[in-house]
Amino acid sequence: MSYDVERIRADFPILKEKVRGKRLAYLDNAATTQKPRAVIEAITRYYETSNANVHRAVHELAERATTQYEGARDRIAKFFNAQREEVVFTRGSTEAINLVAYSFLRPRLKEGDEILLTGMEHHSNIVPWQLIAAQCGAKVIAAPVLEDGSLDFDGWRARLNERTRFVAVVHVSNTLGTINPVTEIIAEAKQRDIPVLVDGAQAVAHLKVDFAALGADFYTLSAHKLYGPTGFGCLMGKRARLDAMPPWHGGGDMIRTVSFEGSTWAEPPYRFEAGTPDMAGAIGLAAALDYVEGIGLGAIAVHEHSLLLEATHALQDIPGLQLIGTAEGKGGILSFVIQGANAQDVGSLLDQQGVAVRTGHHCTMPLMARFGISATIRASLACYNSQEDVMQLHSALIKSTRLLRM
Ligand code: PLP
Repeated sequence: MSYDVERIRADFPILKEKVRGKRLAYLDNAATTQKPRAVIEAITRYYETSNANVHRAVHELAERATTQYEGARDRIAKFFNAQREEVVFTRGSTEAINLVAYSFLRPRLKEGDEILLTGMEHHSNIVPWQLIAAQCGAKVIAAPVLEDGSLDFDGWRARLNERTRFVAVVHVSNTLGTINPVTEIIAEAKQRDIPVLVDGAQAVAHLKVDFAALGADFYTLSAHKLYGPTGFGCLMGKRARLDAMPPWHGGGDMIRTVSFEGSTWAEPPYRFEAGTPDMAGAIGLAAALDYVEGIGLGAIAVHEHSLLLEATHALQDIPGLQLIGTAEGKGGILSFVIQGANAQDVGSLLDQQGVAVRTGHHCTMPLMARFGISATIRASLACYNSQEDVMQLHSALIKSTRLLRM
């Protein structure tokens, strides 16, 4: 069956919006994706028919809410081939990484230890490690990035040593689109018994992730980058790792017993889910996974790849444009600079023409420093982008560069 992008676009109500009086070409998907009607309706349906607090009541609505909320956990676990006990609900990737930093690594971290990252990490996968490293006298080390935006794997390997206590790596770079060799990284780290966290925020909407097969100790994701709601995400953690971790946030739902003499903790994943959770978030993510599965991640990846090739070709005739990140096999992200033009100015001119892109450092300041720039213009693709979006980006760029050179 051929990929019917117009049918897919029709599932996303917001894509019909006019912006600045123009057709919307939404190319800011790495920041957040738009939501299909199926997700919006699942959330609305939950509030209209089933809303109540979960886990703590016997009344019918609480039962419905709990069934749907825990059903969403089963759905998410199945999609990523994880066990349901391995799926911890969080507010997103950022919170998931912080959870691992504070609950898993900090109690194990000693003076002189090293946490090995890469030079293309999002600030979410740098700052939590810096915070705990500073508390423990440990060091954060970044492996170098090559000129094409791929990881210098030899450089990474050279930094793996007897002091390395933890490895964290982004699966797909939000700025470059580079897909990191996570299987090889996990294999190398495992040989030395070093736990690995993979930041999957930018991967899960584009690549099939099998948590069991991958072998990472921890894998993080954000629902809003996967056609789901904002403020919700997951930490997937190997059972043995989660079992050995103390609670992070204290409160309701994460306990077994509480007394003033001392409290005991619930089993994972509940141990890490203090307080009333985001029921609609979980249900919305489950609906998003159903939606993605309906199209097929493989079909989405093929579609996005062909648009990436088209866009890469089209951008070649923009005067002074230089792509940042051209690694082989990269995902659907086009980051670029234009000689003599301020990225912010270009972004504003594109916006005037209905094209939504992101400009700035994309929360990867060390990567910007690596390339000697302060900002890029970034167009990022999703399942609903079409050739028309690419053409609109191209003609808007031609016009913008003319205006800026006047
Ligand atoms: N990691 C990467 C690679 C990202 O692109 C982002 C968001 O842009 C994050 C982590 C943080 O995700 P969130 O803000 O949803 O927690």
